Amino acid sequence: MKVGIVGAGITGLALTHYLAKQGIESVTFEADDEPGGVIRSRTVDGHVIEPGPQRMRKTPGVVELAEKAGIAEEIIEANEGELYVYANGELGEAPITKRQFFTTDLLSVRGKARMLAEPLTKPGSPQETVEEVFVRKFGREAYEHFIGPLYGGIYGSDPAEMPAAFALESLLEREKETKSLLRAFLQRVNQGHTAAPMSFTDGNQQLPNALTEAYDDRIELSTPVKAIHADDRYVIETPNGSEAFDRIVITADAKATAEMLSPLEADGLASGLDGLRDLRYNPLAQVFLQADHDYPGKGYQVGYNEDLHTLGSSWNENMFDRDGAQTVFLGGMHEPEIVEESDDTLAEIAREEFEAVVGCEATVIDVARLKPGFPAWDTSWWALEDLELPDGVTLATNYTARMGVPSRVKEARELAEQFAQQATADDSQQETAVAATT
Ligand SMILES: Cc1cc2nc3c(=O)[nH]c(=O)nc-3n(C[C@H](O)[C@H](O)[C@H](O)COP(=O)(O)OP(=O)(O)OC[C@H]3O[C@@H](n4cnc5c(N)ncnc54)[C@H](O)[C@@H]3O)c2cc1C
Repeated sequence: MKVGIVGAGITGLALTHYLAKQGIESVTFEADDEPGGVIRSRTVDGHVIEPGPQRMRKTPGVVELAEKAGIAEEIIEANEGELYVYANGELGEAPITKRQFFTTDLLSVRGKARMLAEPLTKPGSPQETVEEVFVRKFGREAYEHFIGPLYGGIYGSDPAEMPAAFALESLLEREKETKSLLRAFLQRVNQGHTAAPMSFTDGNQQLPNALTEAYDDRIELSTPVKAIHADDRYVIETPNGSEAFDRIVITADAKATAEMLSPLEADGLASGLDGLRDLRYNPLAQVFLQADHDYPGKGYQVGYNEDLHTLGSSWNENMFDRDGAQTVFLGGMHEPEIVEESDDTLAEIAREEFEAVVGCEATVIDVARLKPGFPAWDTSWWALEDLELPDGVTLATNYTARMGVPSRVKEARELAEQFAQQATADDSQQETAVAATT
């Protein structure tokens, strides 16, 4: 079996590794001249900044990749630390643990009592939006002050636009066992917390860079896939020529995926690609600041009723000892147009608001914009129900499955295991056929 992989973000690179481990031939095509996809790290004026994810979790899969890439020694682990929410004009600890719940000022006594009544409410339904589920189960105060901002912040999205059917799918499944969405959520958070947040000395992109070096015979950078069509096998077309494969795995963003699959659509082998073309992404800008403040913890999200443009901030100085580096996020579904403002305007907004929230002076290091942005997981996801691809073409993406780096790595491992089983089955079928003809 020979597998063609589109994209050398973390999914494509993890798949490259796991296929090599299974002894399966593969080629990974990456449009960009550097690997990592949305994982980007830069050093500006001596500061390591992250114009993409700020951290990942130290799961066995991530550690395995770091070991293979020879950079396990470069892992920096962060303390779990508090997460804050800016609500009612001040920063308060997000009530994730029991102690935080009972001591937090983010909720009134009535708001806490309403949250505790959650087991008496009906289970969440896939027909509801995420906002409807959260407000009905936990009350509007808890939703607006921290649940909405924390949850929506993961996607830069608005929970009012997110169908629970997609965005809460696994949590609703878990709720059936735990009989409480809160218990289901805490179980997931606590499981996640067993793996510490981590990065690398030179930032997150050190992992994709080192993996690409380790597998340079399997990865082609600066090689955009223009089209995929079907012959006896699947053929990938790039500016360098055509190459045939038995299986194709696409990890690219939705629009790029629709574009390269158009020949299969024209031949009637794929349908529903308009769902991919119209899938919504939330634009995002990041402003990197230098500031030294006294709060412990990872950062904050901004509550819904505050008069700020800022969505939230990640305190990379606290987490990774990054010489005062802090990241401020702007845009998302709440204010997509702000991302079009000039660098100077974004920098000023972020700096002023950070100083007001955290109460210390800040200076601007850099500004970045994320393209195409975060998959929004909103109502445009319904159209994916009509997507049909031929056997042998698989999407392994952060818009068809969970977004976090550990989940991307896990999906790649499972896919490689599945291919290895298929390869064994194909081999034994061939042997049987040969035996029958001799
Ligand atoms: C701002 C931000 C913050 C995040 N924060 C966290 C976090 O704190 N923790 C966490 O675990 N996760 C976080 N995530 C999620 C996680 O980083 C991503 O879901 C994950 O890195 C996506 O990896 P991927 O390989 O699936 O896709 P991508 O990184 O999008 O990679 C796809 C690759 O395909 C390539 N490509 C596109 N078109 C073509 C073509 N025609 N031919 C060849 N190649 C092509 C692209 O260039 C790209 O390299 C965050 C994401 C973002 C955007």
